[in-house]
Amino acid sequence: MNSIVNLPHDDHSCGWYAALPEPRPARRLTGEQKADYVVIGAGFAGLAAARRLAEHMPQARILLVDAQRVGYGASGRNSGFVIDLPHKFALEHPEPQHKQRLLGLNRAAIDQLQTLIGRHAIDCQWSHAGKYQGAVGERGLAYLDHFEKLLADLGEPYRQVERQELAGVLGTDYYSRAIFTPGCYLMQPAALVRGLGASLPQNVEVLEESPIQRLEKDAGGNWILHGKEGLIRTPKVLLGTSIFTQEFGYLRNRLLPVMTFASWTRPLTDAEMASVGVQADWGLTPADHAGTTVRMTQDRRLIIRNTYKHVPRYGRSINDSIRQKVREDHCAAFHARYPQLAHVPFTHTWGGVYAISRNFTNFFGKLDEGVFATACDNGVGAAWGTISGTLLADKVVGADSQRLDDIQSVTGMPSRNPPEPFLGLGVRSRIRWAAWNSRSEL
Ligand SMILES: Cc1cc2nc3c(=O)[nH]c(=O)nc-3n(C[C@H](O)[C@H](O)[C@H](O)COP(=O)(O)OP(=O)(O)OC[C@H]3O[C@@H](n4cnc5c(N)ncnc54)[C@H](O)[C@@H]3O)c2cc1C
Repeated sequence: MNSIVNLPHDDHSCGWYAALPEPRPARRLTGEQKADYVVIGAGFAGLAAARRLAEHMPQARILLVDAQRVGYGASGRNSGFVIDLPHKFALEHPEPQHKQRLLGLNRAAIDQLQTLIGRHAIDCQWSHAGKYQGAVGERGLAYLDHFEKLLADLGEPYRQVERQELAGVLGTDYYSRAIFTPGCYLMQPAALVRGLGASLPQNVEVLEESPIQRLEKDAGGNWILHGKEGLIRTPKVLLGTSIFTQEFGYLRNRLLPVMTFASWTRPLTDAEMASVGVQADWGLTPADHAGTTVRMTQDRRLIIRNTYKHVPRYGRSINDSIRQKVREDHCAAFHARYPQLAHVPFTHTWGGVYAISRNFTNFFGKLDEGVFATACDNGVGAAWGTISGTLLADKVVGADSQRLDDIQSVTGMPSRNPPEPFLGLGVRSRIRWAAWNSRSEL
């Protein structure tokens, strides 16, 4: 029997979610249910898994269960970059084929999302905007040089953008230089995730505000998923629960719960846009990953994302004074870049939890008899969650493909963490050390 201890506890101040219309009342898990498949977690991974299962098995009863509303978890509260390029550590992998497989998987995810957004008219600011990777000081420039070399080795297209040209887009001359890569898409994450949830095939039933508190196996080998007001019996469980996978007793001591935070302004006025000469709809990630992400939405809000925290109790690890300090840090980053807009307030500040592993390895596959998972995307889960959820469903129904071979060859077992208190001490000091070293890029 696996007892779940901690449930998701996301804050109520996510700007993306607040910008959406009030959702319809949630349908909750009540009574005793039976299903052919249950997917737990309605983020990118769980949504994709449920959709693909339904495509394979149109007669099956599939339940997609989330502790919160669809779009309320990390998948609805990220910065909205759907990135084709693997992150830095994966780009440094010695085998070119490994990197090409990752690229192929991410691009398949982008194609899949683009098709669904078009087919179901999902209104989510989807845009083929590309991405700037920006450097402020010497440290950032050194990272950028390294990134450029990795891209050249990979044969990927990119363009150097110097300060003046960059300022013409971003409306700030804060950055010395950037590298523009064309393959990234931008979106409104809560809108996209809600749209994906609303357009699932008919044989997927979505149960929200229904935390699964315990998994148990019955004498017949079926799983019993216990909720607050009901239970589900099923032979097959797919976990799209990211960091919370460890709460079900799996991948214990192998995942690190990390939280990062974002703030956004109200939409800028025409006069404010003109005063700094900023364009709408672009995104910039920091050359040094510990720096600041900046984005301008299609509806002209500026977003600042930075700060990492180790959160062993997920959202419950964050209190009001931490939130206040994060907001002040976001204000400082905003004012440094846009001093002329210092009067523009942030309307929302929020955080979200995701999983990283010490060896930057994603888990994909079987965890137990009848239990499968994709977990630990190391913070780039929009594309990865989508493709890994899709292929997990393929694996569960036994549908072989080249993509399934690819994902199985680039995933593995996240490495074991040292025991507490060494783990917490180590992670916290590493985060502080990275923030100090990267202060020029914040
Ligand atoms: C501020 C921020 C910015 C980010 N920016 C980006 C970005 O620009 N691009 C990008 O690709 N990634 C970004 N990320 C990371 C990205 O959001 C995650 O990698 C991604 O959302 C993971 O998707 P997932 O479907 O695997 O998991 P999640 O979205 O975490 O979904 C897991 C779901 O499981 C549910 N759940 C957990 N436990 C239970 C339970 N017991 N019962 C029922 N349901 C349960 C949760 O409620 C949740 O909805 C960012 C993250 C944050 C916080």
